[in-house]
Amino acid sequence: MSDTPGFDTLQIHAGARPDPATGARQTPIYQTTAYVFRDADHAAALFNLQEVGFIYSRLTNPTVAVLQERMAALEGGVGAVCCSSGHAAQIMALFPLMEPGRNIVASTRLYGGTVTQFSQTIRRFGWKASFVDTEDLAAVEAAIDADTRAIFCESIANPGGYVTDIPALAEIADRHGIPLIVDNTSASPYLCRPIEMGATLVVHSLTKYLTGNGTVTGGAVIDSGKFDWSANDKFPSLSQPEPAYHGLKFHETFGNLAFTFHGIAVGLRDLGMTLNPQAAHYTLMGIETLSLRMARHVENARQIAAWLENHPAVEGVTYAGLPSSPWHDRVQRLYPRGAGALFTVALKGGYDACVKLVDGLELFSHVANLGDARSLIIHSASTTHRQLSPEQQVAAGAAPNVVRLSIGTEDAADLIADLSQALDRVAG
Ligand SMILES: *Cc1c(COP(=O)(O)O)cnc(C)c1O
Repeated sequence: MSDTPGFDTLQIHAGARPDPATGARQTPIYQTTAYVFRDADHAAALFNLQEVGFIYSRLTNPTVAVLQERMAALEGGVGAVCCSSGHAAQIMALFPLMEPGRNIVASTRLYGGTVTQFSQTIRRFGWKASFVDTEDLAAVEAAIDADTRAIFCESIANPGGYVTDIPALAEIADRHGIPLIVDNTSASPYLCRPIEMGATLVVHSLTKYLTGNGTVTGGAVIDSGKFDWSANDKFPSLSQPEPAYHGLKFHETFGNLAFTFHGIAVGLRDLGMTLNPQAAHYTLMGIETLSLRMARHVENARQIAAWLENHPAVEGVTYAGLPSSPWHDRVQRLYPRGAGALFTVALKGGYDACVKLVDGLELFSHVANLGDARSLIIHSASTTHRQLSPEQQVAAGAAPNVVRLSIGTEDAADLIADLSQALDRVAG
């Protein structure tokens, strides 16, 4: 490969090479739990992290390792840790940064499950999240206190397709000596590269566009390698002797790979949120066509959003790729390849019309998922965002009168025909 291979080359080749044992061109599924040590010294060196290798598949697996390297390459990071789901990736990203009593500042515009994870479940660890509208940069700044250990946002935010001003948040995080974590699931690294805009860590649900066909549950945390964990005393797990790994100083020992090594040696070892090699294989297959699929997703979404915007039953469409969107300029500046394929549609007929639309569609699937080659629809307020309060639903862009569409890669004309017949039924 050239020194700076393009995205289309990386999505097929990064991290992979012909199998050293057999020459197999495609990455084999290493369906094994453990690996034979050469001898006792080799085993000890691996356990001491003096040599990098394979011990046990809860920690490392060759198929998963290829996916980790590919994700790091596509996001422009130095390393990545794959885990069992997108939600696992979020816990894995926070785990080295947090202690009881610490908090994060999170965007209000997040995947419904993330709002629940951050507002309820992480409290059991003694962590807390303050939710702030990231359009109000002064409010973001005001929410940061001495115990804040990260800012968390989505690039293209679920469900409304809102596009976040990542450089503005990165600047605030920088000024306060804390990392910016960006969930890049809905954009994929093809449409958005948060690290280039100043993010420290990127998290993904591999479940969505990266695999791209609704077969896998998986996640990843990608480290930019750019954060100085020793610049202040806020991140003792990375800068000070780590008691969970016999006093090893991760930052001093591994430099810009400290976060990645900690994620594997402590995070996967003790939290056990491991991605299995079969899932890594499906995800690698999906990633090979990521750029081709994303371009088509975006093209279809543009056409369908524009058609819906002019439909008499429709009150509004949130797609940031529409010229009428308040975020249109931001899309041109930060997301030049497009604003993704996820948006909400508000119907004049309110809640009842939304339910009728969902039930009347034939080609669209009614599922709680996004980022599939198939077009999907869901009424967020009664499903994915059901655990949220009415105020949280509105803040998240999931009010009762909206449905969320995840536009697939089918023929746009067929998708429009399906929406057209279902909207006629809503009116009738
Ligand atoms: C799906 C999703 C998640 C959670 O991922 P899982 O793989 O389902 O755990 C997190 N963030 C966003 C933006 C998502 O779409």
